[in-house]
Amino acid sequence: MRLLNVLVLEDNSFELMVLHKMLNAIQVFNVLTADSVEVAQQALANRGGVDIAICDLQMDGPDGLDMIRFLAKYRLARALIILSGTDQSILDGAAHFARSQGILLLGSLRKPMSPDALCQLLETYQDLVARGVQSVPLKQASQQFSLEELHQLAPGQRIGDTGTFAQWVAYYQPKVSFEGRLAGVEALVRWQHPIHGLMSPGQFLDAVDSAGLIEPLTWRMLDLALTLSSRVLRERGECLPVSVNIPPSMIERDDFARQILALLVRFGLPANVLTLEIVESPLLQAKTAHLEGLLRLRMQGCHLSIDDFGTGASNIQRLLQLPFSELKIPAEFVRGIGDDGRKSSVVAGALIMAQKMALSVVVEGVETARDYRALQALGEPTIQGYFIARPMSEVDLLCWIEERTKFGGIVRVV
Ligand code: C2E
Ligand code: MG
Ligand code: MG
Repeated sequence: MRLLNVLVLEDNSFELMVLHKMLNAIQVFNVLTADSVEVAQQALANRGGVDIAICDLQMDGPDGLDMIRFLAKYRLARALIILSGTDQSILDGAAHFARSQGILLLGSLRKPMSPDALCQLLETYQDLVARGVQSVPLKQASQQFSLEELHQLAPGQRIGDTGTFAQWVAYYQPKVSFEGRLAGVEALVRWQHPIHGLMSPGQFLDAVDSAGLIEPLTWRMLDLALTLSSRVLRERGECLPVSVNIPPSMIERDDFARQILALLVRFGLPANVLTLEIVESPLLQAKTAHLEGLLRLRMQGCHLSIDDFGTGASNIQRLLQLPFSELKIPAEFVRGIGDDGRKSSVVAGALIMAQKMALSVVVEGVETARDYRALQALGEPTIQGYFIARPMSEVDLLCWIEERTKFGGIVRVV
């Protein structure tokens, strides 16, 4: 902790002094103190940014919310702790306000803050830094490449030409049950582009879709994921369940279910190794024809997951229309759940609903031990997130599995 730079903004001079002493007692000596927003802003302007800002909310004149906006605008704190004696709902709202501006929030705490709680949050910060987690929201649009830029391949080559499909590679992110068993992996596409390097889906998926190439991309991902699963079956004697993201437009095809089942037969794999993750679109019509196909896939043993449940068109209405077997709770509802009563209510409600509907639940975007423990207290969903592992190449995944499953198939989580 010795090297942390911390700013404390607190207008009550006694509480300011107590917090300062608490920080010193846990070996944090680089502390800037301020009893007003103006003083805090001036101090940061003179001395430069800090690792962590601890901000009180209620103050006369400019208040904690002004400070949060300032920190977000000028990027002068790597992370934030909100402190207040106010209602929990206001604390939760302020936490949402900070996160929505891209601030990495370590926690929002009621006064008086205990030395233990403070110490735990500083440890969370060091843990996040060690894991390389940044304060960028999960689905913030990363730089989108245009179709023209993506077409800059070898001279005379365009996307969709033979050979270019091989540049779409699969990364895999493990999903782990609460007992620590590897429950499967999600295949996530990356483009190993000859000019732009390794690209993530946010940078190219829309362009690929508008070029009419989302179907070949999806079949390639299915092919790669099932190749991996059958390799694990051959080498380790056990099936590795794989999840693949499927655009809604594809399940509207009459022959979709038949093609999936034929693919499984070709790989010699049981249908229950495959989960199809569907991010719903408002355009998807729950037509009888594709309901029949999806039912057939379910009857054969495939799993069907509603991805990013609770956002956009991935809603309860859709859940009632299609034969889903799994519900994926997105990172938006989970990040900071340890400090946000409203998020934990939403997730607890979804877990109860899923249990009553006999759906399995995967919670995505679990980044910290704090959020992991909060989820553990709510129920025991399957977990996916940087706290367990980041998406990785096939080679790295196989090493990861080897390393983590030395003890009877158990993956060490913490
Ligand atoms: P998704 O299917 O909901 O996938 C989860 C995304 O969350 C992945 O981003 C993953 O890297 C990220 N993630 C997982 N754990 C954490 C965490 O703890 N913290 C943070 N900050 N992020 C985490 P990715 O790989 O960039 O994919 C983004 C989206 O792109 C996916 O969301 C999915 O909708 C789409 N996508 C990815 N691969 C494919 C694909 O092969 N086909 C199609 N159609 N869509 C894909
Ligand atoms: Mg997914
Ligand atoms: Mg998702």
